[in-house]
Amino acid sequence: MATEETRLKGLLGGQAASKLAKHRDIETVGDLLAFAPRRYRTAEADLGHPAVGDFLVAVARVESASTRQMAKRRGRMLEATITDGRSHMRVTFFDARGHEHKLVAGRELLFAGTVSQFRGQTQLAHPGYATLEEAAALGELGDADHTGLIPIYRHVPGVHPWTITRCVRLVLGQLDGVVDTIPEILRSKRDLLDRAGALRALHAPRDHGEVDAARRHLRYEEALVLQSLLGQRRIAAAAVATRGRSARDGGLLAEFDARLPFELTAGQQQVSAEILGEMARPTPMQRLLQGEVGSGKTVVALRAMLAAVDSGGQAALLAPTEVLAAQHAGSIRAMLGDLAEAGMLGGAEQATRVTLLTGSMSAARRKQAMLDIASGDAGIVIGTHALLEEKVTFADLALVVVDEQHRFGVEQRDALRAKGRTPPHVLVMTATPIPRTVAMTVFGDMETSTLRELPRGRQPITTHVVPTQKPGWVDRTWQRVAEEVAAGRQAYVVCPRIGGDGPDDLDGIDLVDEHGPADDEADGERVEEPEAPQRPLAAVEEVIETLRAHPALEGLTLAALHGRMAPDDKDAVMAAFSSGGIDVLVSTTVIEVGVDVPNASTMVILDADRFGVSQLHQLRGRVGRGGDPGVCLLMTATESDVAGERLAAVARSSDGFELARLDLELRREGDVLGRAQHGARNHLQHLSVLRDEAIIELAREDAQALLADDPELAAHPQLRARVDDWADEEQAAYLEKG
Ligand code: ADP
Ligand code: MG
Repeated sequence: MATEETRLKGLLGGQAASKLAKHRDIETVGDLLAFAPRRYRTAEADLGHPAVGDFLVAVARVESASTRQMAKRRGRMLEATITDGRSHMRVTFFDARGHEHKLVAGRELLFAGTVSQFRGQTQLAHPGYATLEEAAALGELGDADHTGLIPIYRHVPGVHPWTITRCVRLVLGQLDGVVDTIPEILRSKRDLLDRAGALRALHAPRDHGEVDAARRHLRYEEALVLQSLLGQRRIAAAAVATRGRSARDGGLLAEFDARLPFELTAGQQQVSAEILGEMARPTPMQRLLQGEVGSGKTVVALRAMLAAVDSGGQAALLAPTEVLAAQHAGSIRAMLGDLAEAGMLGGAEQATRVTLLTGSMSAARRKQAMLDIASGDAGIVIGTHALLEEKVTFADLALVVVDEQHRFGVEQRDALRAKGRTPPHVLVMTATPIPRTVAMTVFGDMETSTLRELPRGRQPITTHVVPTQKPGWVDRTWQRVAEEVAAGRQAYVVCPRIGGDGPDDLDGIDLVDEHGPADDEADGERVEEPEAPQRPLAAVEEVIETLRAHPALEGLTLAALHGRMAPDDKDAVMAAFSSGGIDVLVSTTVIEVGVDVPNASTMVILDADRFGVSQLHQLRGRVGRGGDPGVCLLMTATESDVAGERLAAVARSSDGFELARLDLELRREGDVLGRAQHGARNHLQHLSVLRDEAIIELAREDAQALLADDPELAAHPQLRARVDDWADEEQAAYLEKG
């Protein structure tokens, strides 16, 4: 008999155990049973009219088969035509080796694979296949004792799909003593199977109802463990003591408010009140402030920082890049005016000092900055990762503001937090809206505040997709740019590459794979389109030359901006663009964050399909900041439906939340959640934070109820053990990262 802990080695014969371990980290019975079928099929299909994406299993005869050398790659590919007597289907293997002696004309075989499309024709690329004798031995040609659905698993290199089914059945047959993590009381309350039943129903269901019940159990179980873990953290965080921080009457914050040249929006007022209220309490605030680019987060954060200074403490603002840190310092000094000039001639009575600390500062200036920080003269400290270094000490750090959460890990936040004499309050700002369920799971130990409205004066941005296959549209795009410039406005042209082929060519951005979501999710082997033409992506250095020679743009002043330029040159170009000395700025995504040039009304994004949805949304937020409506033109040469749909969505919607959600759906969750996810990815095998909102809500409610009476989960040792396991593994992952 086996338990979930039993190792597969020794239980399974042949190569299966080592291949499963090597390719899918499946080492124990539990791991194998967690390897959920991606879908199920009922009866055998024929070659009739399968739809692209169908998983087809059919007995067919090889009608013809041949190999040929590929033109642009090494190796030979094998192409065959198979038939079931009525219909035909193309079968391809991009590497003929190992197949050419088996796929011989006249042979009858059982084929299994996902139907794909190539040049308008349906095909099976890299299907699994077996002789009829093998198939019969595997029970694939009619299984006497299994009348239900046949599970289809994700491909494991080197393991026949049917071998996996067989291994799982073998393991299920020997399984004993399955431990239930979900307390009985919740199972009956939520009408869930027990775990043993759920595993059986997952791998050998009689019908789709059983599959649903199995999935519900497994998803709820993960959600419950996660929510219990986060709930325990919230309880622990609430027990930490710190100093409450409040503004003084007639202090710096009051003085700042009195001078503010605009009125705070209702949203800003409400969110500010939430933040200031929480900072006043003797428990460290842990709050996420989300709001789109331009929604006015900086003012809200600055008000919190001023309250911290009023309380006699310091505030630190952590920015993801030097450029952004410098911009923040500049704009915060400008907003504060003489309130930031403590000790200087003309400084206001209440004044404090704003100090910048970045890695590229000269040693002397760094030293001075560090002295100001250590002595407390610097009330507001703005910096990059350099702030995290051990030798940077604060006199009394009261508040930490982190800008652009997605580029900072939990560890870095913790490092800054450790610099306070008393645990500082933490405010994390993000312009990438985080869907509710993600906030509830990944950021489950933080409260969230959201700015939904943009300050008045923001102009709508119209977005259009421009397919380069339509030369008329492309010409019209450049004419449009010229018209805007003629009307006294300015334009951005954004390219994915800098030019040349150095490793920094992409200027630090992650481009989206042309073929959409990762294809290792496919059931079959990786499906490559043979000899797909390699299209070079638009590069700043080349595009600027082309545009300079373009008749429509004759006489305009163009300049380039990218990450490979010297910092002084970058600053000079930005300054010239800000002051209107440059008409068209051709750049990489270096302009993505922070840049604020109200006179820029138009943005053209080249090879737009290669940018993420949220990134496109952020980019276009650079225009429409002045009195004129913004225009964003997404140029693309893509022929992929997925990419086209993504761009259409960006053109259609100006709702950053909706687009962020779409982004998450189109990419693998793990990629999006990145480093911010507290190591949760390793654990979430069945639960999707996007899809399973309802289950997460239930589990959260149930976890909170359990913890309210019993924060240690003493009455539920099995659940407690799982929660502790997850916590330990996260701790281990954290230590590994150093
Ligand atoms: P975010 O950091 O959220 O991207 P900012 O704080 O930089 O946005 O604000 C964008 C612009 O809007 C800034 O120029 C800021 O001064 C201005 N702004 C902020 N709040 C208001 C408001 N209530 N009314 C008018 N303008 C505002
Ligand atoms: Mg900002």
